[in-house]
Amino acid sequence: MSATPYTVGHHELADGIHAWLQPDGGWGWSNAGLVVGDGVSLLVDTLFDERLTATMLDGLAPVTDTAPIATLVNTHANGDHCFGNRLVSGAEVISSTATASELADIPPSLLHAFVTADLGDELLERYVRGAFGAFDFAGIEVAPPDRTFDGHLRLEVGGTEVELWELGPAHTRGDVVVHVPSAATAFVGDLAFIGGTPLVWAGPLSNWCRAIDRIVGLGVRTVVPGHGPVCGTAELLEVRDYLDFVEREATERFHGGMEAAEAARDIDLGPWAGWGESERIQANVEVVYRHLDPGREPADVVTLFSRMAHHADR
Ligand SMILES: [Zn+2]
Repeated sequence: MSATPYTVGHHELADGIHAWLQPDGGWGWSNAGLVVGDGVSLLVDTLFDERLTATMLDGLAPVTDTAPIATLVNTHANGDHCFGNRLVSGAEVISSTATASELADIPPSLLHAFVTADLGDELLERYVRGAFGAFDFAGIEVAPPDRTFDGHLRLEVGGTEVELWELGPAHTRGDVVVHVPSAATAFVGDLAFIGGTPLVWAGPLSNWCRAIDRIVGLGVRTVVPGHGPVCGTAELLEVRDYLDFVEREATERFHGGMEAAEAARDIDLGPWAGWGESERIQANVEVVYRHLDPGREPADVVTLFSRMAHHADR
């Protein structure tokens, strides 16, 4: 099988298996997927705003005209995977129960305010606008899930078997993987950032590692990540290596009495320093500290972005 080129737009990966890719996979530039059965299809995720989602739906129309989208699965609650939900009219929206409960945490209006607000720190404002300024969050209302599940859900899409596996909490509280056994393919949402640095919102990191083991254990050959190029399981295992490394290094510094922000600066990322958004080490170390000390006051999103912005500016 030849590698799928990492170019923007529609790619047919195999019979009935499609991806919509958005290089370069940095902040907000997410991928989506489409599983096409007999006369009907299932969409995996929408994009960060309605303009991008409309472009994707137009681009997929040659396929979906004869196989309309009857089901939309949101892999998790981050906006770059669900803010376009409203445009997929008539589809049943499915997510894990944990994802449904997490949707209200960062609504489009809050992100809109975050991008446009006076944050009192020019460096932070430049970073936030660099990350999210290309997207239009104004006026978006997210269509919530119509149906939720815990653990596992088996679906049939026009004769094609599709398995949903809830493997979070990891990247978020309710991460779900969409597995198509007949094509040995998994759409894994943000359990995989390829070429960019994984970002841990929920954790624990060890559970994300276990999630990757579960995906590899499914026997898949093709993996569509939430961000980055289509890959195989070798790339997933690199993500696992990074998470395992960060957990060990951060834990050592926690027990040595080092503050989280300093620990993140102190860790030598070695081969992973070249991945995009390496400053996410700040958020990732904070999550390790939170799990080691459950009484710790959680760092808010502005604090985390401030640490990442200043880390990137070193
Ligand atoms: Zn994402």
